[in-house]
Amino acid sequence: MGISVLNVDNARPNRVMIRTEQIVTKHFFYKKNSKKLRSIIADASVFPLYCTSCNSPQPNLYVHEGSRYGQVGTVKCSSCGKDIAVIDHDNIVASIFINNYPSNEIFFQELFLLDIKYLEALGKHHFQNIEERLINIEKDNTYFISVDKLRSIIEEEMHISTSGQKKYITDERFSVLPEDINRFIEALINSGVEVPIK
Ligand SMILES: [Zn+2]
Repeated sequence: MGISVLNVDNARPNRVMIRTEQIVTKHFFYKKNSKKLRSIIADASVFPLYCTSCNSPQPNLYVHEGSRYGQVGTVKCSSCGKDIAVIDHDNIVASIFINNYPSNEIFFQELFLLDIKYLEALGKHHFQNIEERLINIEKDNTYFISVDKLRSIIEEEMHISTSGQKKYITDERFSVLPEDINRFIEALINSGVEVPIK
């Protein structure tokens, strides 16, 4: 358990969980069973932090190394030296609390733009193709895919490419985003999706 500063050796990909639901359509003489993509849920392993005491964005990215009773770990602010304690509340790291639980919850669905609405914004036809691919992945009992895999599905579907060199800010409290998240956002932008970047 704990938190460590990201370096090449401990980098683990951020992931999303694929959630589907069963749809039963009744026609006159038959029932059709099909699946629908309900949501994607962010599962963060690499994330930025900011200090709630002095409001400084922290220059490093951190690796989530597991939590016990919700306690992930504590780092020292690089500006004021005060503790920045990180707490989660699930097996899936969809959000973290930075100090002052519970008023200060950071949702990775918003910070990392890992939300089904950005896939829907690719347009109905493209969304349906991506939905079908994610449902097929989930059928193999693979419930998690890396953000890199999701990005490559978008690239294939939209016939676009990404450089991996772009850096974005989605929330001014944070000054850095993980590499896989920046590249995922680049894929959305190159696909024409309007994204809330600063
Ligand atoms: Zn500070």
